[in-house]
Amino acid sequence: MQNYIFSGIDYTMYDLTNLQEDLNILYAQGAEVFDIGYTLLGRPIPCVFKGSKEGGQVLVHASIHAREWVTTPLVLEMMKNYNGKGGIWCVPMVNIDGVLLCQQGLKSIGNQSLEEFLLDVNNSSFDFSLWKANARAVDLNVNYNARWGEGAQNITYPAPANYIGQYPFSEAENIALRLLTERVKPSVTLSYHARGNVIFKGFSCLDPNKEGAQLISNATDYPLLDSFDSTGGYKDWYVATFQKLGLTIEVGDNDIPYDKLIDYLPSIYDKNKDVLDIASQIALEN
Ligand SMILES: [Zn+2]
Repeated sequence: MQNYIFSGIDYTMYDLTNLQEDLNILYAQGAEVFDIGYTLLGRPIPCVFKGSKEGGQVLVHASIHAREWVTTPLVLEMMKNYNGKGGIWCVPMVNIDGVLLCQQGLKSIGNQSLEEFLLDVNNSSFDFSLWKANARAVDLNVNYNARWGEGAQNITYPAPANYIGQYPFSEAENIALRLLTERVKPSVTLSYHARGNVIFKGFSCLDPNKEGAQLISNATDYPLLDSFDSTGGYKDWYVATFQKLGLTIEVGDNDIPYDKLIDYLPSIYDKNKDVLDIASQIALEN
């Protein structure tokens, strides 16, 4: 696997050691680093805050889908380079258990009955590199309370992707992100996913702050798409609940395998390098 240096860190994969190194860099810069809750397997879910708590706030999260873990070093690099006034709250790896399962396989689980369950869900394959869900085979981004279960792709039994869970907010990772969102009451949320080089906005008939969405589309060169069919996602729930600007940003070319996206991190970062400054400006005005 290719190695390269990004921001002083040598990545081949991006695991918890890399995450801790990035959090240490941000802490040394003066950022607040704290946990918002725990995953199903008891791993603390970190959050980084930078800027001022006065005025409109921005909340960004990444890696709610396991195989899209390239979004974690992306948002942390964005945080390291953010020096604006407005407050930015960043949850860089919502689905830690899923990311580690995707990267390391069943040895990351450490619970025999759960390992047997996951192996069964994964059609007896030990290759979890395309896994999207958490360690209970729930797809966290269809588990939010926004037309929950109405999506065309939704599945009602445990699966590597698209299983909605037993009820909305059944998963610890989503409760943690919901509580942070309700506490911060951000004016803008950014949900980082891979792939496609597009931005999805709105929910059902709601399309708040079209101008703000357009500014971020212009800065990234990612076209803006309406997401009428999307249900149960974080962005869907945020837009429905707060009626403010929530965007799902899909990074990376569709023809690059998920586990190779990290090789393209510098060019992905380049497209997104102004997003936090712009989002913060939008938040301060709204
Ligand atoms: Zn995704």
